[in-house]
Amino acid sequence: MATRTEIASLGEFGLIDHLTRNNETRQASTLVSVGDDAAVLDPLGKQIVVTTDLLIEGVHFDLVYTPLTHLGYKSIIVNLSDVYAMNATPTQVTMSIGISNRFSVEALEEFYEGVYAACEKYNVDLVGGDTTTSAKGMIISVTAIGEVNAGSFVKRDGAQKGDLICVSGDLGASYLGLLLMEREKKIFLESPGVQPDLENQDYILRRLLKPEARKDIIEFFEEQQIVPTSMMDISDGLSSELLHICKQSHTGCLIYEDKIPIADQTREFAFKLGMDPTACALSGGEDYELLFTLKQEDYEKVTLNEQISVIGYITEAEAGSYIITRSDKKHALTAQGWNAFK
Ligand code: ADP
Ligand code: MG
Repeated sequence: MATRTEIASLGEFGLIDHLTRNNETRQASTLVSVGDDAAVLDPLGKQIVVTTDLLIEGVHFDLVYTPLTHLGYKSIIVNLSDVYAMNATPTQVTMSIGISNRFSVEALEEFYEGVYAACEKYNVDLVGGDTTTSAKGMIISVTAIGEVNAGSFVKRDGAQKGDLICVSGDLGASYLGLLLMEREKKIFLESPGVQPDLENQDYILRRLLKPEARKDIIEFFEEQQIVPTSMMDISDGLSSELLHICKQSHTGCLIYEDKIPIADQTREFAFKLGMDPTACALSGGEDYELLFTLKQEDYEKVTLNEQISVIGYITEAEAGSYIITRSDKKHALTAQGWNAFK
């Protein structure tokens, strides 16, 4: 059996030292990292973006099927995604955790393995955090800091009539991964002997358990000198996010069902469950893709990037927000999405 070291045997300070003993600094803007009362950062003439997220066991994640390494990784990624959504480059993160004695030192090491893997991959520094006791369940709070050239940040309110609506990657996979995991969990709880049936579902599972943030898209914008007119990341489903952009930009929109990118595996698993893949893309969550609008003159440039799909265009507010289906019908877009089977 694997060894189990009780947190109490290290104490709070011992635990922090243990978890941060190999912590590296990569960013020039990190002057003081973990170990003092506060980190010291020097933005080097850039503007700073800050974002934070709170994750609660039983609400945002389920440790029955979430490996701790993946959870550590994902808790960093969801914050980096928000930084990229501002057209900024993430540079530092802080990690605060609330844990009960149910967790061993080894379990937290696994969690931090994921945290450090994400920091390394995205070139960000872990510069601090807090560690405290939780009566029940695990609580994770991450703050991410990023840098952006003066005036180059992109908000949600800049879309204009005629702008192209674009998304990165593909949508709906993470939601179907969640449905798959919930199904397997139920089967497991009812009959523990049954082996999970996860064959050919690696993509949707990876999208749920180990998502990535779209660093590549922000780098592409920089290379191509593209500045989106508005942008946000897709954490709650395409339709709800698009309605946010329209509301804040005082516009309407028109998107086309057949242009929404959905992976084959996502589509197949949706059909297996008797669900509409488009509805999953519109209303599923946790895709961590970028939704953005561009001036029409940037159209040629985005066709260079296979990871970007143009799904429609911005209209004036009076025109409303609609989706044109494959069968050429026009439906109002709602925050709950739209379901072809209704
Ligand atoms: P304080 O009592 O001032 O809050 P702590 O003892 O909590 O200080 O933290 C000591 C140092 O360790 C600080 O730099 C803090 O940011 C960092 N730290 C605390 N907990 C964590 C953690 N879970 N992960 C990373 N760094 C942490
Ligand atoms: Mg503290």
